[in-house]
Amino acid sequence: MSSLCLCLTSSRFEDAIAQLERYRRYIDMAEMRLDLLNPEERYKALKLPQIAGIPLILTIRLPQDGGKWGEFGESEEERVLLYKRMLESGGWTFVDLEDNRLMADTQAAALSSGARIIRSIHDFQGTFLNLPVAEISGQIRRIADGGFIPKIAARCTGSRQLLTLARTAIAAESVKDKVLLGMDDYGMPSRILAQRFGSLWTYTSAVGGPGEPVSAAPGQLDPETLTNLYRFQNIDDSTALYGVTGNPIAHSLSPELHNRWLKDSGLNGTYIPIRSDDMAALVETCDIWGLKGLSVTVPHKEKALSLCDYADISSRSIGAANTLLRGGDGWRARNTDAEGFLKTLPTAMNLRSIEELKGKKALIIGAGGAARAAVHALRKAGMKLVILNRTVEKARRLAEETKQQWGALSSESLYLLEGGVDLAVQTTNVGMYPDSSSDPIPWWTPRGCSLVYDMIYEPEETVLLARSRTEGINTMNGSGMLEAQARIQFELYTGRKAGA
Ligand code: NAP
Repeated sequence: MSSLCLCLTSSRFEDAIAQLERYRRYIDMAEMRLDLLNPEERYKALKLPQIAGIPLILTIRLPQDGGKWGEFGESEEERVLLYKRMLESGGWTFVDLEDNRLMADTQAAALSSGARIIRSIHDFQGTFLNLPVAEISGQIRRIADGGFIPKIAARCTGSRQLLTLARTAIAAESVKDKVLLGMDDYGMPSRILAQRFGSLWTYTSAVGGPGEPVSAAPGQLDPETLTNLYRFQNIDDSTALYGVTGNPIAHSLSPELHNRWLKDSGLNGTYIPIRSDDMAALVETCDIWGLKGLSVTVPHKEKALSLCDYADISSRSIGAANTLLRGGDGWRARNTDAEGFLKTLPTAMNLRSIEELKGKKALIIGAGGAARAAVHALRKAGMKLVILNRTVEKARRLAEETKQQWGALSSESLYLLEGGVDLAVQTTNVGMYPDSSSDPIPWWTPRGCSLVYDMIYEPEETVLLARSRTEGINTMNGSGMLEAQARIQFELYTGRKAGA
């Protein structure tokens, strides 16, 4: 089991205490970042061990390691003195010293105070995880052999580096007391899955509240999110792991949905966001962690399908997979988008059944993975389709596969929409946060349409939906579909029905 450590990041000591109290019920330990306190506040931290009553790490970080010591002209001698004074007064469980500095006096002071020494390697350049795994794990063993706790905090600039970190965790498995973490979005899984990385603890930061709302390092989460959303404290060897990948992925609502359902079902599992720029590396990483199910979103659905050992009919005919299931014999591809989309239509269009769509006409904006799912679903329902896409060739290919009409996503295609359409389905990224002011089809007016459906769910109302509503047209965003397809995924992952 890994512990949850709160980094105290305020510039005023009283604010650091307020941070500690705010999160006390979630945390096991705290790190006092003396370099972040204003110089006149630093000696107040002598009182911290008594106030905190939990294990504490003492850290005075240099700028090259992501710290602020020296910003007010403080010298290295003053840093050594401050360490010494703090350690002499006692109460610190750990002291964090850089691996590349000898610091013999501080080390001696730590040993006589009973504090354990962490020797840390920080990499903010994003190059450390390009080293061979054997070299990184060799460094971990060297530090451990010296009687210290090795800590690696390295920037992850992509999925390959997260894979290196996961492989390092295996190579250095015999070193029991260590901390291994990847910084930034790509490294974030190593913070949530600290237990799987064999880390003694994970670092968290306060968000908002008293003092500056700063994160001590890129990619840190707050203790409440780790506890309530990811159930960090429950993660052990038997925890079932699931995730969602895409690029970017931070905006995804899937962790909220799946983690709520896992909790409500009383299952020992967690569902995490995993940013990826390389699906092959990511799938290998998931294998190392023993991930059971992976939801896939933009732009990886087609690549995900190609990496699977088996694929069902729906993912094959759509040509994309949004759901990967790990079985004993490899990865299986599924696609729940088409079914999820279809499930939301009867209510949105006031239909008694999908049969009522037969013979009606729909406009599909886009020809990517989501469009393919919509085309697949609406063809099954017997609708006639017009597919418009920026890359005309993709529209043509999809239309020819399904024997439908196609055109460019430009006003030249207006003739294809003469006589109106009953349904318009917007499936491009245009209008999605942060591009919220864009309209994928500004030259078309949805007059006479029963429903304009935009698969985007952030923002809740895109420009296209807003102007359709102004015209008195029914509108629907992508949140219903997201939930419907996620419910199907949850059942595939766990064999249980998703709760409320
Ligand atoms: P995708 O396979 O990458 O396809 C992207 C589509 O958007 C393509 O048609 C692409 O046209 C078009 N596009 C991108 N940028 C454009 C631009 N600047 N101008 C015009 N067209 C542009 O992605 P996807 O999987 O289909 O997903 C697309 C959207 O649907 C995303 O916003 C995603 O969040 C949403 N979605 C929602 C749900 C849900 O459950 N609500 C499910 C699936 C997808 P080109 O072919 O010309 O590049």
